[in-house]
Amino acid sequence: MIPFCDPHASYLAHKEEIDDAIKRVLDSGWYVLGKEVEAFENEFATFHNDTFHATGVANGTDAIAICIRGLGLGVGDEIITTSHTAVATVAGIEQAGCTPVFADIDPFSRCISIKSIKERIGSRTRAIMPVHIYGQPAEMQRILDIAQTHKLEIIEDCSQAHGAEIDGIKVGTFANVSAFSCYPTKNLGGTGDGGIILTRSKEFAEKTKSLRQYGWNEQRESIIAGFNSRLDEVQAAILRVKLKHLTTDNEIRRSIAKKYNDAFSELPMLLPCLPSNELHAMHLYVIECDRRDELLNYLKSNQIGASLHYPLAVHQHTAYANRMQGNDDLPVTNNFYQKNLTLPLYPELSNEAVQHIISTLVNWFRKGYRH
Ligand SMILES: *Cc1c(COP(=O)(O)O)cnc(C)c1O
Repeated sequence: MIPFCDPHASYLAHKEEIDDAIKRVLDSGWYVLGKEVEAFENEFATFHNDTFHATGVANGTDAIAICIRGLGLGVGDEIITTSHTAVATVAGIEQAGCTPVFADIDPFSRCISIKSIKERIGSRTRAIMPVHIYGQPAEMQRILDIAQTHKLEIIEDCSQAHGAEIDGIKVGTFANVSAFSCYPTKNLGGTGDGGIILTRSKEFAEKTKSLRQYGWNEQRESIIAGFNSRLDEVQAAILRVKLKHLTTDNEIRRSIAKKYNDAFSELPMLLPCLPSNELHAMHLYVIECDRRDELLNYLKSNQIGASLHYPLAVHQHTAYANRMQGNDDLPVTNNFYQKNLTLPLYPELSNEAVQHIISTLVNWFRKGYRH
């Protein structure tokens, strides 16, 4: 079976460097929030923009919650985001005490719809949280314009889009604050949980460094109510290795996506867009088609680990159904969830596997689809 993602292959691809990094940490005797975390933060910030700052945290959900708390938002404040995202986006907003409000998505980018954001803005709206879903950058310039007009904060959820760009500018640097997950399956993934916050402001970076550890100041006095969301040294050391390969890995992801797009261009499916002014991080390659469940089974019976990302939109999960604002008016999101299907795509996917996936899919449309 060709898996839809393969963190083990990613480890094997950089095994020597990763093993050395782990050993270096074990031998150092310092295991949480130390030199490796600091180096990772600096390298991650520099990768995006020399003038930015970063704060390593325990996971992407915490990165979102800490960003929100760091901005001074909390109970009663509404944040407009999408239901087409990882539950983590919404969990992070609620963890910070805020109220998520769902906007619909654009049918082609699958990112937050500008028109829908405008419809959702009300007196309690404080922020917009665009998700660069599957590695596709959201329409940041238009979101910045809306935010400026209505005096709203923006928090970019970049958990699926490490290294994505619009006109040469990296996602995560459009907003003043952004959150990333470094979970093993992400484009920049460790071998355990991890997350990182990126910010334009040195002050905000310092505040998040306090928030991640009980709100401590240097004397270990809690000056604000905080979290325990520390990043460990082993993950940071591994993520430093992975960061060095991120640009190349993303290029390989895009080249596989381009092969898929070229091969599928005549088939009755909606494919990911690859606009020439953007670098898509191609975290997941997601198509939309009719008879999706039949195609999914056909692919599985041909050893292709296609899957659904996600099987449910957030507002369709039991925990969130019937209580989220905006959830009765998400036609594009609802339609997407009837049709979406994720094909395997990761830097270590062999050309042979890519060709097998292409020919199997093309074959299904040529033969099976008409029966
Ligand atoms: C993975 C992910 C997160 C957060 O993930 P953690 O599992 O908490 O690290 C947040 N948002 C999106 C869109 C994600 O894909």
